Amino acid sequence: TSFAHFNFDEQLMHQIRKSEYTQPTPIQCQGVPIALSGRDMIGIAKTGSGKTAAFIWPMLVHIMDQKELEPGEGPIAVIVCPTRELCQQIHAECKRFGKAYSLRSVAVYGGGSMWEQAKALQDGAEIVFTARVLIEYVVLLFFLIYSMLKSFFVFFLFALEYQVRSIASHVRPDRQTLLFSATFRKKIERLARDILVDPIRVVQ
Ligand code: AMP
Repeated sequence: TSFAHFNFDEQLMHQIRKSEYTQPTPIQCQGVPIALSGRDMIGIAKTGSGKTAAFIWPMLVHIMDQKELEPGEGPIAVIVCPTRELCQQIHAECKRFGKAYSLRSVAVYGGGSMWEQAKALQDGAEIVFTARVLIEYVVLLFFLIYSMLKSFFVFFLFALEYQVRSIASHVRPDRQTLLFSATFRKKIERLARDILVDPIRVVQ
């Protein structure tokens, strides 16, 4: 598989070329077409496998499709991370690849200004990143925005289980959900059964 197989637009291909990636990694070869198709997915992949880009690229494609339908509406994607550091890394990767699009993203952290975060959401941020925060806090913010949502793609990185479950219960059921983990455990299998619909497994 080469990058050409993904049929990305010129803006995204330009950013990928700038990264000097010569070819997609195995998780990207398998994961990108699944994520683009709209199916739910469980990705078991280690750090450094290129899993971040494997969901960031299709996410950008989905968001740009949505934006053409309903400009300014959002959020369209939510990314739940296990740590703030990972959240910041993924946020940076997302900004890098999404550079050519006029997208807004907000990181929802406990300790940040709730007012500013809520305002960014209401102003139409398309992408929300969140890490370990009090679940009540995230749910409160989601309640605030839920009524505005027309569509919702959710991309979860394996975070705290209760946090993922709670967030999943507050977003629309016709979402797309991607779950990533470094290891395959019973706990993940259970979680996937509860919040994903007929997922495809990609194991690296
Ligand atoms: P991960 O933490 O699994 O997302 O891996 C991220 C690392 O892999 C980063 O250093 C990326 O720059 C790098 N990476 C992602 N995709 C590719 C690719 N197709 N070719 C080479 N490196 C890549």
